[in-house]
Amino acid sequence: MLEPEVETRPWDEQFALDDGAFRAQLAYLRERSPFYREKLAGAPQVGLAEIARLPLTDKSELKATVTPERPFGSHFAAEPSEIVRIYSTSGTTGTPSYVPLTTGDLENWVTGSARSYAASGVTAGQRIVSTYNAGPFVAGAALTAFERIGLCHIPVGTGNTERLLRAIEVLRPHAVVLTPSYAASLVESARERDLDLHTSSVERVLVAGEPGGGEPAFRASLEEGWGARVTEAMGIGDIGPSLWGECEEQDGMHLGTRGFVHPELVDSETGQALALEDGAAGELVLTHLQHRAAPLLRFRTRDHVEVRTSPCPCGRTGPRVRCVGRTDDMLIVRGVNVFPSAVREVVSGFAPDVSGHVLVRPRSPGVKQDPPLPIWVELAREADADPLLAQAIRERIRAVLVVQTEVELVPWGSLQRSEYKSTLLDR
Ligand SMILES: [Zn+2]
Repeated sequence: MLEPEVETRPWDEQFALDDGAFRAQLAYLRERSPFYREKLAGAPQVGLAEIARLPLTDKSELKATVTPERPFGSHFAAEPSEIVRIYSTSGTTGTPSYVPLTTGDLENWVTGSARSYAASGVTAGQRIVSTYNAGPFVAGAALTAFERIGLCHIPVGTGNTERLLRAIEVLRPHAVVLTPSYAASLVESARERDLDLHTSSVERVLVAGEPGGGEPAFRASLEEGWGARVTEAMGIGDIGPSLWGECEEQDGMHLGTRGFVHPELVDSETGQALALEDGAAGELVLTHLQHRAAPLLRFRTRDHVEVRTSPCPCGRTGPRVRCVGRTDDMLIVRGVNVFPSAVREVVSGFAPDVSGHVLVRPRSPGVKQDPPLPIWVELAREADADPLLAQAIRERIRAVLVVQTEVELVPWGSLQRSEYKSTLLDR
């Protein structure tokens, strides 16, 4: 543990500290952020326990305030001279948005990311290979966290499988960090080259960047392919690069950014606050507690998570989360929420008959779909399309996800592999 006194602090003590930070942050927003001065006009003076009485913040509201004169949006709250770094978010929906940081903001990002990644068990003196082209993106700050942990960081970038496999062979890293999709595709690439990742030096695979790394069957297939322990981490560009990180217990991600960020859960349809209790599920909402450049209050992450609050044997306290999927990818089939990553998780249970690659192919645009939902399931190499397999997959999905599907088995290699995030949904 990087900072045991912080990471094992009883959650009620953390909450009391965070309450003070939150009140100061709210005062700062009212004074310095034009966006929140307007949004909070008439809102009550509250502490952290009553945060749900304040309005939620949607990404689109922030974007709407961006002008050529105000490239950060009207929630920018610092003096331009205080800004030491400007990242961009990857802009999945159109133009990228800028994320400015002060020295203190950047320092807190690195501290929180270091705690999140260190939870996986990597320690000083080990080597880690990263595969993100951090470039303009906030992931760059997470990579700085590797040095903070004391790791030797070997960046190889995205899109160069040869370079990555060679780095693993020659430099013998203890760990690699990549997206779960790329981790899966590398298992296949290594097999094609007659490389056995099992006998490689890699003992830990840290996955982040998209949901799925924490799903038991998918994780098991990655661990089997790599002969390594797989843990996941998660962040969101506007709030911080690596906010959550899983420990070796593999039962949900701990909040590495405790003290800097406050988590909440809401119903993604109504925005109604939900109790952050064991087994609860909903959209993750995050609030900066001591951010200066462009702080956010009750920011909707669009990440749909499940919460764990049972004590973790590692000793870290506070709620843990597992990301089920992005609410943007969610479909509703006859009233039932369906995440493509959850479909992949069920299908992964049919290995070794299937490759683990799936593509959900809704018939109509929009969120609401009529059953049966068409799904392509890729077969394992040299496997034949057995109608009984398709039927078994359909029945398992029906039993687990309560949704009717139409499963089409497609030959090995017909679904796209990704060196970054994969598309599980064909809109
Ligand atoms: Zn733990």
